[in-house]
Amino acid sequence: AKESGKSRWVEYGPELDAHAVEHAQLAADLSQALDRDELTVHYQPIVALPGGEIRGVEALVRWRHPTRGQVSPAVFIPVAERTGLIVQIGAWVLRKSCDQAAAWISALDEAAPWKMSVNASARQLLEPSFVDTVAAILHDCALPPARLTIEITETAVFGGGRALDTVRSLHALGVKIALDDFGTGHSSLGLLRTCPVDVLKVDKSFVDGVTGTVEQEAIVTSISEIAQALRLEAVAEGVETRAQANRLLELGYQLAQGFHFYRPMPPEAVTAAIAAEAGV
Ligand code: C2E
Ligand code: CA
Ligand code: CA
Ligand code: CA
Repeated sequence: AKESGKSRWVEYGPELDAHAVEHAQLAADLSQALDRDELTVHYQPIVALPGGEIRGVEALVRWRHPTRGQVSPAVFIPVAERTGLIVQIGAWVLRKSCDQAAAWISALDEAAPWKMSVNASARQLLEPSFVDTVAAILHDCALPPARLTIEITETAVFGGGRALDTVRSLHALGVKIALDDFGTGHSSLGLLRTCPVDVLKVDKSFVDGVTGTVEQEAIVTSISEIAQALRLEAVAEGVETRAQANRLLELGYQLAQGFHFYRPMPPEAVTAAIAAEAGV
């Protein structure tokens, strides 16, 4: 790139512009998505090792755009965060998921250790009404708070402040807190002292290395040891092979999630999987 501001504009300008237009279009379409019934929630089971029994599910939002087809949440969630739409979409996902969880749990043995995990973005945690929203939804769905796990990222609560206050209030309500993508932030260990945490979700990038070199495996081992020492649950994410699942068990993991077990599925498919497990 030339150093003059003018040539930079020529070089990067149109591309940035196109990006901004694309973003604005996506944001406009997304603002209509809820009203137009384009959003759905899929659920990916979290299973016990080694047996693979379903211990709960993670809710993952899906968007079927009228002309583009499926748009990945990795693309539209950041857009929803920047525009603030995530507050509305997040509340919708939460209500849908808690409703579904109450139905699944009532069909199971009450004593079954079954939980619904829902992702919350930084923007939602900064919303003053978020805790009240969660409490109202749990009440409406008659779902005990301990059946709900809210997944947060390290970066969302890293700065302390209101986001951290929200997490503390949620925890005081009896909701479980999971640290998502654990290990990928820059304050993972320090955060465990200040933020109430019940579950560590070990990021796929670490799980990928579990059948690799000793060095790669060391990270996954360390996280397992931290979880055991602090009496936290640890969930290994993105498990794609039997070899990974076997090794994770040897390293002390009791919970896993990944394509090797189940992909994210529409609710009917989860209902069928639960029924198959119960042998009915
Ligand atoms: P995440 O919370 O880390 O969710 C896990 C992602 O990994 C999901 O992608 C899931 O489909 C994918 N995954 C699970 N197992 C495997 C595997 O074995 N291999 C591979 N390659 N991938 C696997 P998805 O559904 O595309 O979601 C992407 C991200 O979008 C999520 O990452 C989460 O950060 C965000 N997201 C999804 N739904 C919601 C939501 O309702 N609210 C918020 N705030 N964020 C959401
Ligand atoms: Ca998650
Ligand atoms: Ca994750
Ligand atoms: Ca992730």
